Amino acid sequence: MDYKALVDQYKDQLIDDLKGLLAIESVRGETTEEAPVGEGPLAALNYMMTIGERDGMTTKSVDNLAGHIEHGSGDKIFGVLGHVDVVPVSADGWDTPPFEPTIKDGYLIARGVQDDKGPMMAAYYAVKILKDQGVDFNQRLRLIIGTDEESNWECTRAYFDSEAMPDAGFAPDAAFPLIHGEKGISTFNLVQNVDEENVEAAPVTLIDFNSGSAYNVVPDAAIARLQTEDVEDIKMKFEQFIADNDVKGNVGINGNLELKVSGKSAHGSTPKEGVHAGHILLKFLSELSLDGRGQHFVDVMNRFVVDNLDGSQMDIFSTHEEMGETTVNSGIIKYDAIDGGHVGVNYRYPFGVDFDQTIDRLKKTLDQEQFRIEDASGMPPHYVEKDDPLIKVLVDSYRNHVDDPREPFTIGGGTYARTLDKGVAFGAMFEDSLDTMHQKNERMKIDELLRVTTIYLEALHRIVTSDEI
Ligand SMILES: [Zn+2]
Repeated sequence: MDYKALVDQYKDQLIDDLKGLLAIESVRGETTEEAPVGEGPLAALNYMMTIGERDGMTTKSVDNLAGHIEHGSGDKIFGVLGHVDVVPVSADGWDTPPFEPTIKDGYLIARGVQDDKGPMMAAYYAVKILKDQGVDFNQRLRLIIGTDEESNWECTRAYFDSEAMPDAGFAPDAAFPLIHGEKGISTFNLVQNVDEENVEAAPVTLIDFNSGSAYNVVPDAAIARLQTEDVEDIKMKFEQFIADNDVKGNVGINGNLELKVSGKSAHGSTPKEGVHAGHILLKFLSELSLDGRGQHFVDVMNRFVVDNLDGSQMDIFSTHEEMGETTVNSGIIKYDAIDGGHVGVNYRYPFGVDFDQTIDRLKKTLDQEQFRIEDASGMPPHYVEKDDPLIKVLVDSYRNHVDDPREPFTIGGGTYARTLDKGVAFGAMFEDSLDTMHQKNERMKIDELLRVTTIYLEALHRIVTSDEI
């Protein structure tokens, strides 16, 4: 089968159908009984169902939240999982209206064209072309369409509550060549026990401390307020500390002494790429003689939290040959003299870590330090062995159309693929694609759209005629 030539024949039709989908403002909106995540996402789902019916495929909508378009027969199901909801657009900044798809300089421009309507439509056309070619499917091929990927994944929850889990599948909602592992992603809070014992006074009282506001972001700012008679002394010490450690910071006197430090933000899955402002300020505070409660907070922070980017200091470190090391981001660190300290942790861990056991162990350690753990929750790691036949077929199909020797990889983030029991993320960003997902002027090269369709066509053709997958 000449995959590329076939896709070229469908070019105009593919772009027309995609433009229709892109014109729907499928941002999560007001919930009604009829439209559980809003009218826009439902309209986009119905649009796909209508196209499937037009082309003679079987369709099924589930709770108006998700649905599938199916072709082929057999006991086994292969799933392709994409989504038709999009993130909101900011009011300004777009050169063309975000929901009026426009072709310019070889690009198709519209909200959702990269994430995930373009890749979804590419996968749909791969199925349609196989059907039109009269290919004999040895299993059912199911294009599963979600409407709430950008928010709460209510779509896939509802869908898999009532529909069968595919035997294998991929999500066209990330990058090539292929992502075969995603770390477990969890959050929990470390909370200081506040009692009457640790309140002795000292020359310096820590009034409050604040750094960061989101679990999955490395804080780039920290501020501490101190009450003291020795203002000049501490000010001097802090200025010396800033100079010695090559840190950005400043002191203000605003009734109390205010110490500020700046760092560098990074994503919570890669804490080593950032500079945690709160950690730096906590190091400075450890040089002071603080009130009992403040001192307890600063001591425990310096032993368990400061510079703890991989979990070693909490004894929750682990590593995996493919997936790498655990990461810890203390994205929120707060303290005030009345309520005590509170740390919001984002912990990401590879395959092989027992999360419940890890948390139990940490609880015991912290118990001795008068701290406790609250609100531990998360999603387990997701992993498909790299030598699985599924991965070989997908990567081969990719390399037949792209000169790219890169191996499949694993990430610390999460993709839609993790909702499949055996699923990987496969495309649709190429190594040199301009990443405009979630950004203004979101766009995709028409050539890329056709290449993605070609790759999916070959991959799905090989899958539905293979005995191994
Ligand atoms: Zn997406």
